[in-house]
Amino acid sequence: MKENRILTCIVCPRGCTLEVSFDSEGKVASVVGNACKRGVTYATDECTHPRRTVTSTVRATDGSVVAVKTLGTVPKEKIFEVMKEINSVTAALPLSIGDVIIADVAGTGVSVVATANKE
Ligand code: SF4
Repeated sequence: MKENRILTCIVCPRGCTLEVSFDSEGKVASVVGNACKRGVTYATDECTHPRRTVTSTVRATDGSVVAVKTLGTVPKEKIFEVMKEINSVTAALPLSIGDVIIADVAGTGVSVVATANKE
């Protein structure tokens, strides 16, 4: 039987401590400690298909760097591929917040966008 997992819910600043138990097939059987339903969704996703938002920087055509992030979460196991692609691009200037630097990064269906304006 898979052992219980203790997680901290990161969906809101309250940071509830969640305890997840599993059934004999390793599937999530129950979640306790959540103050709202979003905690159950977070714990279930985290134990079955964890995802993360990636923040980083890309090189710009003038040699400076531009802050970027994924516009949504990507599967945790794809983060290495996402970072490889982010590190391989050079962003054309000027850029505004929200401009797409990479569409469908690493085949995730998620875009990488600028998080700062840059002349
Ligand atoms: S369970 Fe609900 S209240 Fe608790 S941290 Fe998660 S989102 Fe916030």
